[in-house]
Amino acid sequence: MSEKKYIESAEIICVGTELLMGHTLNTNSQFLAKELVSLGIPSYRQIVVGDNDERLAKQIQESAMRADLIILTGGLGPTTDDITMSVAAKVAGKELVFDEESYKNMSAYFRRLCRNMPKSNKKQAMLPENATIFANHNGTAPGAMFTTSAPTDEDPDRIVHLILLPGPPSETTLMFNSEVRPVLENMSEYTFTTKYVHLFEIGESEAAERIGDLIDNQTNPTIAPYAAEGECMFRITQRTLQGEKEEDLISPIIATMQERFGQNIYEIGTRSMKQVAFDLLLKNGKTVSFAESCTAGMVSSEFVDVPGASQVFMGAIVSYGNSIKTNVLGVSEDMLGSLGAVSRECAQEMAEGARKLLKTDIAISITGIAGPTGETEKKPVGLVYLAIADENGTEVKEIHLSGNRMRIRRVAVLHAFNLIRKRLS
Ligand code: AMP
Ligand code: MG
Repeated sequence: MSEKKYIESAEIICVGTELLMGHTLNTNSQFLAKELVSLGIPSYRQIVVGDNDERLAKQIQESAMRADLIILTGGLGPTTDDITMSVAAKVAGKELVFDEESYKNMSAYFRRLCRNMPKSNKKQAMLPENATIFANHNGTAPGAMFTTSAPTDEDPDRIVHLILLPGPPSETTLMFNSEVRPVLENMSEYTFTTKYVHLFEIGESEAAERIGDLIDNQTNPTIAPYAAEGECMFRITQRTLQGEKEEDLISPIIATMQERFGQNIYEIGTRSMKQVAFDLLLKNGKTVSFAESCTAGMVSSEFVDVPGASQVFMGAIVSYGNSIKTNVLGVSEDMLGSLGAVSRECAQEMAEGARKLLKTDIAISITGIAGPTGETEKKPVGLVYLAIADENGTEVKEIHLSGNRMRIRRVAVLHAFNLIRKRLS
């Protein structure tokens, strides 16, 4: 087999009649194109093909005559118009075989959503023999990587790599970043250094706008923004030709980001918000407790995911009902009657009450309306008050969150950890 050492060129094929008809904007092409740039893999063509066996097969064969790598997205779903896996396997002369692990992952995905898995989904576990399988953490269809032969006159043993990814952009991007990118980094003639900058209390588009000049002018390093739930992140990737001396091109970019984002940056690296909060508590020798109303234990539960949490976390009160707020935390009944449980004052009294009762240096409280019911004209769904109490006094923060009940609660948890971070850094 003559497999080239490095990938010298790539083509992107997006599959879907909805793309051809203009119903769906082809954002996967844009995403993948940028990723290929950052990997130093030249890409010369982007193609859209409808959900049609014959035209897709022809296109894969044609692209294989030119490119060493073909990345396809779309058409991996469970329905009959989803043909990409079977067509690409056929072109490559590979049988589809049942992949037990992918099937298990799919069943687990449906269980998490509390839904029964339709029979048709079994098709998505039929994958080409000997393929590298990419797990889908955001949906059902696994991705796959395998080779096809594409002989030329000069190279009768020529091999081309095919990578198949799901169509929904949230699935494509996650799968690419977590599973595909490391594989391609190993197939590139460059070495890579990557740094992550994590931001909070700023949206992805505003953050990207603020460093628009850096993003627009990027060639090396490349700067890629990502949105996660309630937060966003930039990936900065520098590439260096193998064997060449690596200069530090990343630090100046990070310095500019620090100037422009200041306190919004909570981590340069890979630590989560709760880890950052934990590290600061430990470093400062402070203990913490929580008084949780709308999150009802989620802050505590998330926090103890951090190994060693017991060194700083003493306990929490799930003060969901008003009687617990008054009887246990000492929140004033009169105040609750006049201002209600979702109020600045209640958050303050909850935090101060928890700090006194649980005897910690710091206490955090959370009270809010997670919805979908319970809103009033003055207190909409997503209104959350958090308070932090310590020896220097109490600070209350009002936030307005969007999304469903679960999202509101999860993002409120991040804000609780963020209060610790801000107080201690
Ligand atoms: P499929 O995997 O073909 O069933 O696609 C699932 C969904 O992903 C489609 O309904 C589209 O909304 C979306 N999608 C597919 N391909 C693309 C693409 N290239 N860019 C953006 N969205 C896409
Ligand atoms: Mg489709």
